[in-house]
Amino acid sequence: MGAVQTDVSVLSSHVCDQWVTGEVRPATPVVVDAVTGEPIARVSADGLDLAAAVAHARDVGGPGLRAHTFTERAAMLQEVVAALNDAKDELYELSARAGSSRSDAWGDVDGGIGTMASIASRAARKLPDAHVWVDQDLVRLSRDDTFHAVQAQVAMPGVAVHVNAFNYPVWGMLEKFAPALLAGMPCIAKPAPQAGFVAHRAFEMLVEVGVLPPGAVQLVMGGAVDLLAHLDHRDVLAFTGSAATARRLKAHPAIGERNVRFNAETDSVNASVLAPDVPAGSDIHAAFLDEVVGQVTNKSGQRCTSIRRVLVPADRLDEVSGELAERFGALVLGDPRRDDVDLGPLVDATQRETVLASIERLAGGADLLTGPDPTSLVGVDGDPGTFVAPTVLRARDARSAVVHDVEAFGPVVTVVGYDDAADAADLVALGGGGLVASVFATGVTTEVVDLVRALAPHHGRVLVVDETARRRQTGHGTPLARLHHGGPGRAGGGSELGGLDSLHHYLQRVAIQGSPELLTAVTGRWVSGAPRHHGTHPFRTTFDALEVGDSVTAGPREITREDIDAFADLTGDHFYAHTDEEAAARNPLFGGIVAHGYLLLSVAAGLFVAPEEGPVLANTGLDALRFMKPVRPGDEVTVTLTCMGKADRPGEEHGEVRWAVELVDGDGDLAAVYELLTMVARA
Ligand code: NAP
Repeated sequence: MGAVQTDVSVLSSHVCDQWVTGEVRPATPVVVDAVTGEPIARVSADGLDLAAAVAHARDVGGPGLRAHTFTERAAMLQEVVAALNDAKDELYELSARAGSSRSDAWGDVDGGIGTMASIASRAARKLPDAHVWVDQDLVRLSRDDTFHAVQAQVAMPGVAVHVNAFNYPVWGMLEKFAPALLAGMPCIAKPAPQAGFVAHRAFEMLVEVGVLPPGAVQLVMGGAVDLLAHLDHRDVLAFTGSAATARRLKAHPAIGERNVRFNAETDSVNASVLAPDVPAGSDIHAAFLDEVVGQVTNKSGQRCTSIRRVLVPADRLDEVSGELAERFGALVLGDPRRDDVDLGPLVDATQRETVLASIERLAGGADLLTGPDPTSLVGVDGDPGTFVAPTVLRARDARSAVVHDVEAFGPVVTVVGYDDAADAADLVALGGGGLVASVFATGVTTEVVDLVRALAPHHGRVLVVDETARRRQTGHGTPLARLHHGGPGRAGGGSELGGLDSLHHYLQRVAIQGSPELLTAVTGRWVSGAPRHHGTHPFRTTFDALEVGDSVTAGPREITREDIDAFADLTGDHFYAHTDEEAAARNPLFGGIVAHGYLLLSVAAGLFVAPEEGPVLANTGLDALRFMKPVRPGDEVTVTLTCMGKADRPGEEHGEVRWAVELVDGDGDLAAVYELLTMVARA
């Protein structure tokens, strides 16, 4: 990237639902093809009205998104995912121009779409078809059901600004869009310029789907320092990039004075440890070497999670660094489109200069064994000045500061010797907080368990590969949509992904106290003590007609000793508290024969079920079951079933209904409570 003379066009931004281009000035950067050096586009946000973009997001995008429920927003994202999947080949072609092979781009393109798909499908299954997410059980604050509280999460009222790094233009955008949009926050994405043309095309595709409300997503191509000036406490800034940039952003008044919620995913000097027990030549030893080689070839090491430090027992330092030098030396550099090439270029010449400078710094504490200059390039005309050969360094002193401090964001590793597992943990911790550490061990030993426990507080993720896990392990460098991604200290202290946890960053947590009726009205979820509607049996009501609070009470029914004996014989559950009077009398909790809990559930169903064919299709589960008071032979039970909430499943012929079930004994005391889940036909 540089300010060369060219007539290539400026990548447009999408602001206030219009495609607009920034002004071109002499210093406007030009992005070039990483392999050929050919200019691709200019990138400029100069002259764009970013204040208007922020206002549009808050005034139009947010209300439009929040008019929909979580379930509806999940359905929108599922449509986006389907459309991107259909069109993604073009993104692979573009990614090659940024230096990525097809397998490199897989993690970005399919990884990004897959991450959005995973979070959206989890949201569709688990989040309420409502505007407020009640994330904990009811907090009962009165015995007489007149004053309670819920812990809820509601969308932040502002805009989510996403400043992304260059290395994952598609993944970086989609993994941030998904949770923000699901939460109900409009987004402004600001991709890094280097591979911004890939993000730009992915964004165009997303907008072309036409399913998101106006103002839900905007795109700013180019430097956007001014964007932060318009943010305040209603907004979120999610940043991915270097620790140095994160420090600059953190110092901005928007963060420090106006309390913009800030999440930083930054760099880290990730380590992989070969455990002391791994014999040379073993499968685990080979898996360890393969992992290190895989990490430097993937995206030519331009991954935040890539292995930078390779820790091995000190007496094997020469052996392992020699093996890696041999493996690295055999790797083929060249055009990433070719199958016979192992690794492509860095994203641009500036990035190469930065990596070479980092290698020079590392050489202050380590000996260079291979690299950094390529000896030959396959399928490339001339040298575009973007290639760095896979580089192995061997630390001269295990505690050399540079080895643990310098992130060479390319195909570069430093091999470090440790004395024992405790020393390995101490050395890894010198990285100052990381995204991921991995341990390659033969099996589960006390030493390995201690090592994992020692590494855990310094990382966002720890991967342990042993004989059992070796074949199915998902890789040191691969963040998974369902697992937490982020790390303490130098890694930024942020948190992304982790399934539905990813939404928390865009939601305000709020405790709402009030009467059960108020809580039911605000959350859309029936709360104990709120009015119930008794009328048509709710099992005879279709999903569309059913209302929260619809209820039926059935009983009483006496539980007899014969019922208990028959249930024991039918199920084979002859537990003494149900069958042996003397033994049951000695039980300190019961002091005599009591009914099986499962008998009570079955009796409850027998009381509330409407048996004829009707809209209720199936019972799909029970949640939050508690047996609260034993029921003895001769006791009577009465059950009340109340519709707590409905979850629409768009495109399906039925929806999910959650029912509150309360079983009381003859004294009116609760014997059991639970939530029943059923599938109910729409009409
Ligand atoms: P970078 O130089 O820090 O830039 C990241 C983003 O910040 C770019 O979009 C950049 O755009 C923007 N930016 C820089 N200064 C800014 C400012 N003052 N105001 C607003 N935006 C600003 O990082 P990079 O070179 O793109 O990415 C490589 C680094 O990211 C590596 O260190 C890597 O470890 C880290 N990374 C971390 C993760 C993670 O998940 N933790 C993932 C990927 C990468 P402009 O250049 O247009 O200003």
